Amino acid sequence: MSQARLAPGVTPGRLTPEELALNFVDVAPPLDPHEARVAADRCYFCHDAPCITACPTSIDIPLFIRQIATGTPDAAAMTIFHANILGGMCARVCPTENLCEGSCVRMDAEGQPVEIGALQRYATDGLMAKPGHPFRRAEPTGKRIAVVGAGPAGLAAAHRLAAKGHDVVIFEARPKPGGLNEYGIASYKAVDGFAQAEVDWLMGIGGIEFRHDQRLGRDITLNGLRGEYDAVFLGMGLGGVNALRTDGEDRQHVSDAVAFIRDLRQADDLTALPVGRDVVVIGGGMTAVDAAVQSKLLGAENVTIVYRRDQSQMSASSHEQEHATSSGVRIICNAAPVAVHGNGSVVEVEFAYTQDGPDGLKLTEERFRLKADQLFRAIGQRLEDAPDGITLEGGKIAVDDYGRTSLDGVWAGGDCASGGDDLTVTAVAEGRDAAEDIDATLTGRPVEIPG
Ligand SMILES: Cc1cc2nc3c(=O)[nH]c(=O)nc-3n(C[C@H](O)[C@H](O)[C@H](O)COP(=O)(O)OP(=O)(O)OC[C@H]3O[C@@H](n4cnc5c(N)ncnc54)[C@H](O)[C@@H]3O)c2cc1C
Ligand code: SF4
Repeated sequence: MSQARLAPGVTPGRLTPEELALNFVDVAPPLDPHEARVAADRCYFCHDAPCITACPTSIDIPLFIRQIATGTPDAAAMTIFHANILGGMCARVCPTENLCEGSCVRMDAEGQPVEIGALQRYATDGLMAKPGHPFRRAEPTGKRIAVVGAGPAGLAAAHRLAAKGHDVVIFEARPKPGGLNEYGIASYKAVDGFAQAEVDWLMGIGGIEFRHDQRLGRDITLNGLRGEYDAVFLGMGLGGVNALRTDGEDRQHVSDAVAFIRDLRQADDLTALPVGRDVVVIGGGMTAVDAAVQSKLLGAENVTIVYRRDQSQMSASSHEQEHATSSGVRIICNAAPVAVHGNGSVVEVEFAYTQDGPDGLKLTEERFRLKADQLFRAIGQRLEDAPDGITLEGGKIAVDDYGRTSLDGVWAGGDCASGGDDLTVTAVAEGRDAAEDIDATLTGRPVEIPG
């Protein structure tokens, strides 16, 4: 057994390279052609398919499954990509149990939905592995659009605008494109550099230029972009992280779960990545689950998620919660942190049990402590770099049904925009729909949105 495995503190190399390689394999391996045909044959091809309604991008699911069933998977992929150009990533990361698969009639009847996500991956992976890009650009319009942020919202908007013949420049603060697909999604959901491969494939449409290390508010201004471009789309996500506001939060090894996940996603060598022996994660969403599971996979001995409300109110889906517990993560509910104890570094976290009532959540007098040498905050993110003069709603950029902001010629979508539910697929839908509205506004052409 390696020295590091049981060492206290935040230590790299708790597991061997072989153990880590096994731990971080694809969590949902792809279907082979036979499995795909069998899975496709379970679809009833419903007329008023509830799965389509449940998909934020309104993919024609029965159509693409029929195309797989009839041996034309590339046509199936095109059905998906017409509605959702990041259909490959969404097939990997969508909480399908809450979306299409959760509403599948097979789920009601048998408790076992058609494997829509796996079928979507089968079709899209197949076409993406072929050379070239399957979409062609329309005749050039001479219009230039600035997109801020190369996450799912910005990429979906950029692709649709480029396809319609506009020239697009994406201004991205980070050195790589992809947004949280590259820096946030759990590594076992998108293995083998899929996020960058998908961006490269998407760029095959042409007419999109990346300008990296360009942060709105630091290197560029919204007024500057409005002056230079015919329209601006803001897709900058939520870069800020909420604080716990707990005594002792400034102790060493108390950090943001998103930063830990980002470092993990960018690490060339997982044995060099330090992790605690006793890890505590505060939060109830996907970020909390991803940080906890990945800590465990890196070799942490005890990992506990603590959530302030009832388990049924966690925003991580029941599938994600099961994934956490089956990975050995403990989930404690109805408790909130009140103090982080330690001498320099965190040693223990003190919690109060909570009670939810008509007047909101209240801390009770009942306390307990958890041993922790590493503590992650995963209690939500907030908008950074909101441009001056733009109207906000609930801390996000206020948009109407078309993604229009309060400023003329400026649209927004994805996590930074009001409404929505902070999922990859929602960001794609909002980027796509804003692009349609931008095109309609600039050219007078009708919008083409599926569903
Ligand atoms: C840890 C984690 C795990 C998640 N897991 C899942 C999952 O499994 N499934 C799922 O559906 N959703 C998941 N989500 C949510 C999903 O990743 C987001 O909803 C989605 O990425 C939002 O896309 P976006 O384009 O709006 O923003 P982002 O993906 O955040 O992209 C925004 C981009 O804008 C850039 N940017 C920011 N500010 C500026 C600026 N001022 N100037 C220029 N560029 C800027 C950023 O660098 C980034 O590239 C997860 C989120 C997190 C944090
Ligand atoms: S609801 Fe299920 S069975 Fe019906 S079309 Fe959708 S995937 Fe097929």
